[in-house]
Amino acid sequence: MPIKVLESEIVSKIAAGEVIERPASVVKELIENSLDAGATEIAVEAQGGGVGLIKVSDNGAGIPASELELAFHRYATSKIGDLGDLEKISSLGFRGEALPSIAAVAEVEILSQPHIEYGATETVGSYIYLRKGEVTHKESRARPQGTTVTVRRLFRYFPVRLKFLKSVNTENSHIAHLVSQYALAFPEVKFSLVLDKRHSLRTTGNGDLRQVVGEIYGSEVAQRMLEVEREDSMVKVRGLISPPSLARSTRNYLSFFVNRRWVRSPLLTRATEEAYRGLLMDGRHPTAIINISLPAHELDVNIHPAKAQIKFCHEQNVFSNVQKAIEGALARTPVARPKATTFSLGSGQWQSPRMIMDNEPTFVVAQLPTLELPLLRVLGQLANTYIIAEGPDGLYLIDQHAAHERILYDRILAQWSQKEVEVQGLLQPITIELSPREEETLKASEELLTEFGFTIDPFGNRSYLIRAIPALTARANTIEIITALLDDLAGKEPNPWEEEIAQSLACHGAIRAGQQLSNEEMRELIKQLEQTKQPRTCPHGRPTMIHLSSHQLEKEFGRIS
Ligand code: ADP
Ligand code: MG
Repeated sequence: MPIKVLESEIVSKIAAGEVIERPASVVKELIENSLDAGATEIAVEAQGGGVGLIKVSDNGAGIPASELELAFHRYATSKIGDLGDLEKISSLGFRGEALPSIAAVAEVEILSQPHIEYGATETVGSYIYLRKGEVTHKESRARPQGTTVTVRRLFRYFPVRLKFLKSVNTENSHIAHLVSQYALAFPEVKFSLVLDKRHSLRTTGNGDLRQVVGEIYGSEVAQRMLEVEREDSMVKVRGLISPPSLARSTRNYLSFFVNRRWVRSPLLTRATEEAYRGLLMDGRHPTAIINISLPAHELDVNIHPAKAQIKFCHEQNVFSNVQKAIEGALARTPVARPKATTFSLGSGQWQSPRMIMDNEPTFVVAQLPTLELPLLRVLGQLANTYIIAEGPDGLYLIDQHAAHERILYDRILAQWSQKEVEVQGLLQPITIELSPREEETLKASEELLTEFGFTIDPFGNRSYLIRAIPALTARANTIEIITALLDDLAGKEPNPWEEEIAQSLACHGAIRAGQQLSNEEMRELIKQLEQTKQPRTCPHGRPTMIHLSSHQLEKEFGRIS
């Protein structure tokens, strides 16, 4: 094909594709515009995962009638004027791309009534309707001061993008997560979110971050969060972090705001994890809301079309300030370091194995030896984490958590597929408070969770009553099991979710590293492991055991060469 300049319709769709990846991106851009307009109340509504409808209303400055159409021109913005402004951006938007991008991939309505003080003379609001980026209708309409943008039929004329969208519930959960993040970033703004006509989130806008955390993550979490505060001549760090005892199974609970912009930043994630080093078990992550303020010129926000990434001029300084701020907050609270993580093969902190002397050497005989696990005799437990066993050909070190995970995984899936799930009813139902995002995930997985043995009834206001659980997970903490499960499923497509559910229940229901086991328990564990189909790997594919053969031992001790 010869080279030619693309038609403007294609160009605008390509550009829109960068800014608007999914329905939640539209919500993000509209909320940012409302915040930039100084709104103190922002109401978000979405239907059908945002593909059917997205509506964002605010009480901000509004747009004068004479500028309403201009707002939909590419690179039309009221937020920066010259090159110098680009160096010190204080607004969330500045690229003038959001409204034209949305209009390129959806049908858009906007109704705005500007502030009288803002220089506007009109006493009635103005309304325009755009289709395929063109204004097809305009009129005057009454509205209290502020702006409402309504977006319909997102991606209808953009089938490629529509094809890649996930289920309604997944898109809803992205929207719920996003609105929650902005509510955390702006506690002084009153947010409300209605998803498919259901109230999902409402904040008071009274400026209290802890209260917003309570709205989103539940009041218990909010009460236990620790204050973070640190300031040097350049960087100010403020926020709330969880004590190590409140750890989660994903990084989804880390929120970073830089000059009030919600960002994803591997640098800040690392700084946070560094501060918690040695305090959390492997695979566990904190909840943190970290606000970083620094002079606008210390920051480049113009490196990503959706403005989700930023670049710090002095990365190292920001890193160490965040790390120290969090360390300071953790140091002010007495916390126990879990035993399991102090044990490390690499650091030379060996603990002597606790040998269990067994008068009658009992070989564990598997009832159904389905795969080549030899007969193993338990010798003892090492570091409350590994079972030491002897087999016909040398020494076995078995990771108690991984082994139990394999056992539970196989049983949970087997019971589910044979429709013979053992259920444990709870005499006293347990109440759980879910975040807006967790609630969306629960809605999406409800049926399957029932099949796996859960009975979870709504109790109003994102509270739920847990009435029954799978018997196989009964030994673990029920609230932890369910929140970890919802975390593990969040954002993953249900295709199908059975394996993920079994994996999550097995992982969080299994005996942990660091737990002391009796000789009897260890023997039982090995016996059950022998009956699984793949005793040598956990469901994630990691090994459950290390084998040192007699030959290897002899070689190591120089008995043979
Ligand atoms: P940007 O936010 O980068 O300036 P947008 O395309 O998002 O670009 O918006 C274009 C302009 O429309 C903004 O600069 C602002 O002047 C105006 N605008 C958009 N949304 C609102 C709103 N909710 N309230 C007031 N003004 C708005
Ligand atoms: Mg904008």
